[in-house]
Amino acid sequence: MIELKNVSKVYPNGTIALDKVNLKFNKGDFVILMGESGAGKTTLLKIIRGDEEPTEGTVLFEGVDIQRYNRTSLRRKIGFAFQDLTLIDDRTVFDNVSLPMQFRGASFREIHNKVEAVLSEVRLREKMYKLVKELSYGEKQRVSIARALIYEPIVLLLDEPTGNLDVDTARAVLNFVEVLNERGTTVIMSTHHLIEFGNKPKGIIKIRKGRIVGKEYV
Ligand code: ADP
Ligand code: ADP
Repeated sequence: MIELKNVSKVYPNGTIALDKVNLKFNKGDFVILMGESGAGKTTLLKIIRGDEEPTEGTVLFEGVDIQRYNRTSLRRKIGFAFQDLTLIDDRTVFDNVSLPMQFRGASFREIHNKVEAVLSEVRLREKMYKLVKELSYGEKQRVSIARALIYEPIVLLLDEPTGNLDVDTARAVLNFVEVLNERGTTVIMSTHHLIEFGNKPKGIIKIRKGRIVGKEYV
């Protein structure tokens, strides 16, 4: 479903963030991308989503070079929640989650139903009209995931979704992601520390200094 062929990324300042990465992700995968801070995890996720262009190599999504893939449909098919959350603090949860749909010009009823559904999924239905700044960090993390789910993406990219969370909240977020994966969503998730999982993940990819140094498939 997603294939990286000989992908390198060198930032304009000369930093080599990724060095000849070859990877394949299949439909239904639940893959953990593990590596220390600065290893290249975020860069890899951005490249998979077409947000950063590789300096070298190609990324195929459904067999098509993502640089040629229709941008809008790529963004709908690949949901992402990055660590910095990028939520608007003084707007409601509803506004934050529905923003992508408002841009698309969906009807209010359509938007409302969809937002209600995704918020129920992340167990935040009752916080729909709260301002984001009134939420705890774990709740914000879930709002960010809810927003990523609004288009029912077939791939979900999560950048350190459990970073800064206490063990219980992290566990809850992971459980939820596992359920999504069981329903068929392909999940690629980065982390800099080993987390405890239930039956998942199906794969662990280790990355160090921009290179893939280990692949384990369970
Ligand atoms: P991780 O997500 O594993 O912490 P990143 O992909 O964020 O790693 O970063 C990989 C390397 O690229 C690091 O050395 C980081 O400092 C560098 N880097 C990331 N983004 C940029 C950028 N926009 N410009 C220059 N260097 C960057
Ligand atoms: P956590 O235990 O996850 O750190 P908090 O102690 O930050 O959670 O928050 C506990 C609850 O209080 C959450 O449900 C959150 O929505 C609510 N809350 C936190 N800060 C505010 C605030 N400034 N105004 C209103 N509600 C808040």
